[in-house]
Amino acid sequence: MNRELLKVSGLTKHYPLPRQGLMEKKQVVRAVDGISFRIREGEIFGLVGESGCGKSTTGQMLVQLVKQTEGELYFQGEPVSGLSESRMKALRRDIQIVFQDPYSSLNPKKTIGWTLEEPLIIHRIGDKLQRRKIVSETLEQVGLDASYMDRYPHELSGGQKQRVGIAAALVLEPKFIVIDEAVSALDVSVQSQILNLLKELQEKRGLTYLFISHDLNVVEYISDRIGVMYLGKIVEIFEAGVADKGPLHPYTRALFSAVPDVHKRKEHAVLQGDVPNPIEPPGGCAFHPRCPAVMDICRSEVPQLRKVGSGHEVSCHIYAEGE
Ligand code: SF4
Repeated sequence: MNRELLKVSGLTKHYPLPRQGLMEKKQVVRAVDGISFRIREGEIFGLVGESGCGKSTTGQMLVQLVKQTEGELYFQGEPVSGLSESRMKALRRDIQIVFQDPYSSLNPKKTIGWTLEEPLIIHRIGDKLQRRKIVSETLEQVGLDASYMDRYPHELSGGQKQRVGIAAALVLEPKFIVIDEAVSALDVSVQSQILNLLKELQEKRGLTYLFISHDLNVVEYISDRIGVMYLGKIVEIFEAGVADKGPLHPYTRALFSAVPDVHKRKEHAVLQGDVPNPIEPPGGCAFHPRCPAVMDICRSEVPQLRKVGSGHEVSCHIYAEGE
């Protein structure tokens, strides 16, 4: 088994809301509420869940774009919060992110060559000639020739912009990349090209990804393991593409049963109601108001994420440890 690259322990992000009045109690949005998981070297860990479940905030905490309220992130065994300034700079090189909208991370006034060279300058890598060579080779690896160095973002198609977004993440030769809804805005045919490119790069370079998406087919296709988030918590972790290790949690089963090609199950459980307010999540299991299998205990006791088999963890009172 590969070594652990990244460990997340009790990671939490609460956003305080302004008080409505002096007597009002302080309220917080529980965007991410104490999640723990590990990602092994060379693994693609998919993170899924409905909109607002906290998956993008998790990704942003992993690349330290958002500072956690509580909990710790360990990279190669080192706690990130205790790193010195110089180790932090090295870490920023090792951990990169690809966003859903690459256009927003590209400077419209600068050429693609400039955008890709800038991080190399910041990290003092090579001279001008060497940097241009790195940029043109990186572009080539994402399927764009060196002529793209002189182009501006507005001259590119959606798929080409996303290729540049991936090149920008790759140029510093990172070990770990958060890929946040990176194919969601693309046409289906371009989507599969970008997914195949990501998979190819991961294999060739031995990269590790956290792949965030609301699209279950896409996550199932690309991931080795899948984590499912509901209202700021991870409710299940399981291996992808292993039929008899398919999801067990009632929420995951409902999510996946709505998708025809994934985990072809006979039942079609429709998710009832809306996701509850993350300011005042329901007590006990936060999924209980929508759960078709709800029991009395679910309304008062928070289920913990328990191991239920090799590579499989579930947070649900139905499943006792080891079952
Ligand atoms: Fe449903 Fe209870 Fe399991 Fe929550 S703990 S998913 S409410 S059965």
